[in-house]
Amino acid sequence: MWFGVITLFPEMLSAAQYGVTGRALQNKLAELHHWNPRDFTDNKHGNVDDRPYGGSPGMVMSVQPLQAAIHAAQQVAPEGTELIYLTPQGKRFDHAAATQFAKKKGLLFVAGRYEGIDERLMILEPGTEWSIGDYVLSGGEFAAMTMMDAITRLIPNVLGHAESAQLDSHSAGLLEYPHYTRPEIYQDLAVPEVLLHGNHQAIAKWRLKQSLGRTWQKRPDLLENITLSEVEQELLKEYISQANKE
Ligand code: SAM
Repeated sequence: MWFGVITLFPEMLSAAQYGVTGRALQNKLAELHHWNPRDFTDNKHGNVDDRPYGGSPGMVMSVQPLQAAIHAAQQVAPEGTELIYLTPQGKRFDHAAATQFAKKKGLLFVAGRYEGIDERLMILEPGTEWSIGDYVLSGGEFAAMTMMDAITRLIPNVLGHAESAQLDSHSAGLLEYPHYTRPEIYQDLAVPEVLLHGNHQAIAKWRLKQSLGRTWQKRPDLLENITLSEVEQELLKEYISQANKE
């Protein structure tokens, strides 16, 4: 998958070189490119921003260098690449969106800075606006990296079998079950018995119950969006009655 980022701070994208995204880049399952609007400004002072009309604190990113950078990126981007404006005013990014984006050929992110971008850019270069949450970052680079990381995990063959994204929280609408590793007992806390004996059916049942129970405890709102099977309802009932006794 092709990722491009229009950014004034391309060095910030170096975080993608690590871990799962780094491996995906190395294995050519994903590629990451960047364009700096500073390299495209036709302003003799090399400015990429200016004061806002109407007066207010801060600066606004100018249209021209951003538009030229987008055009340069689009010349090499694969056909069908989607243009994404990162903004706290955009649609909230989530697992469902990541799954849809992972099917695309390319994504070109525009990372804003300062007070944001001159509104006319979004008219001249239509794209979709996405937010990574209801808070304000000082720039769109971390938002681009967050989206890219979540999407890259879902590209076929990026995760090994052992790390399968299908088991992760949110992929089936539930939170994931708890994990344990050695030692078997640590400071008097033992690993749940069922995990020690290799009974795969019992383990799967326990994990499903934990997954349902955790979602009920930590994110009950998620349960409103899914329909539980009879078995799942029964497991959740058991979990709740056990939790109420403790
Ligand atoms: N004045 C803008 C507003 O209130 O809508 C916020 C500008 S913010 C300080 C600078 C840049 O950070 C934005 O242009 C955007 O690219 C990025 N940004 C900030 N918060 C974001 C969020 N929650 N999701 C995605 N991008 C964000």
